[in-house]
Amino acid sequence: MPTLYHGTLIHSLSLTQLEVLPNALLCVSDTDGIIEWLERGVEGSEIQEVAARKGVILDGGVEVVVLGKGEVLCPGMIDTHTHAPQYPNNGLGQQYQLLEWLDKLTFPREAMFADVEYARRIYDQVVKRNLNAGTTTACYYGSLHDESTRVLADICDDKGQRAFVGKCCMDRNCPPTYTETTESCISSTKSWLSHFDKFTSPSSSDSGSGSDQSVPSPPLVQPILTPRFAISTTPEVLAFIGKLAHSRSPSIAIQTHLSENPAEVEFTKQLFPDCETYAGVYDKYDLLGPGTILAHCVHLDDKEREVISKRGAGISHCPTSNTHLNSGAADVGKMLRAGIKVGLGTDCGGGYALGILPSLRQAAGVSRFVSWSSAGSTASPSSCDAQPLSLPQLFHMATLGGASLCRLESRIGNFLPGKEFDALRIKPASPGMWTDDRDSPEEVFEKWLFTGDDRDVADVWVRGRRVGGAA
Ligand SMILES: [Zn+2]
Repeated sequence: MPTLYHGTLIHSLSLTQLEVLPNALLCVSDTDGIIEWLERGVEGSEIQEVAARKGVILDGGVEVVVLGKGEVLCPGMIDTHTHAPQYPNNGLGQQYQLLEWLDKLTFPREAMFADVEYARRIYDQVVKRNLNAGTTTACYYGSLHDESTRVLADICDDKGQRAFVGKCCMDRNCPPTYTETTESCISSTKSWLSHFDKFTSPSSSDSGSGSDQSVPSPPLVQPILTPRFAISTTPEVLAFIGKLAHSRSPSIAIQTHLSENPAEVEFTKQLFPDCETYAGVYDKYDLLGPGTILAHCVHLDDKEREVISKRGAGISHCPTSNTHLNSGAADVGKMLRAGIKVGLGTDCGGGYALGILPSLRQAAGVSRFVSWSSAGSTASPSSCDAQPLSLPQLFHMATLGGASLCRLESRIGNFLPGKEFDALRIKPASPGMWTDDRDSPEEVFEKWLFTGDDRDVADVWVRGRRVGGAA
């Protein structure tokens, strides 16, 4: 039996198109969570008639979820860059820059995840709280530990969060208490990867859904190869990962950090003197492709943007972290103009906040600073060439743009029929949200983006299954 959803839907169609659909009626298959059809402009009194016309007879077996006035249904948020073992450090470290922050706070915390039971306890909370905050898809870095990272993948699958889970590869320039040899890095990466064979695609052969997808949907939880960054990874491991990624079709996803901090860029160039640029290091080892997610990219030059665009890799913009760790202000406008796909990342615990909303707000603010500074400190904002990010751009990065980084844009990211139902029901409840009967749905939605939090996320669905929410 399908489930019907009736009310105001808001979703992104492109970087410039944010579509608002009042009185929409959406039908989701209960067998595979696929959106079977979407009808626009259906009054409450017409639900039964429209459903019947679509072949759905409303009786006791069909659930109809009717959104109340002031409520909005939007796609789930996609966090394209975050570190599961670092959540206990959230809020610490604003006095440091990247390399010192790693030594003082991050590596000691991640080393604790050698203890699998500790990992289980923390990861259980990380996934649960992320889901409740509206993060339906997350790209997680684990620690370097194979077994603890397997536990993270199992928890995501069990709780129903769509996730990419990676074991960090880090076989040099790390403290002796938290590093691995090249041999153990390679063998544990192979071992970690084999764990994902048990996550299978949902069967759609007997679903009877309206999906026109000819290729089966990928498993909810997928592996992502994770060379931490060039500094911590030997050329041997980078070459191994490049080959391993391309040993499958489609290639295995890859995530890493790129050009986050000036000292990091400098050190990387010393380690790889034969590469002209930092991005060139990853390109040399065949690590840049459509399945690659590059976090930060604050200090790119034009050549680097060009090669990233050419290879089809995506950038995870992490403005909260970039600001908190004094890394710099990434120019997202330049990335977009270069044709690079861009999503948002929380980068916890470099970033300090749970969920994508704080990153979206910070992305808006940083884009203004970038536009002001590009015009000179005395120029007025209206005279800038570089425009601040618009609301449609910001929300696109949080949803459909993020999906494209994960190569899932044909599966999730908005409510087009044939996609899987990853969604949030926004019902204003937090004290920071000032809404009343006079607000349009667009205004409620904009207020939530800028003033709301997880208390306003009443329900969270992934692939049609309710997996979280405050209701
Ligand atoms: Zn990171």
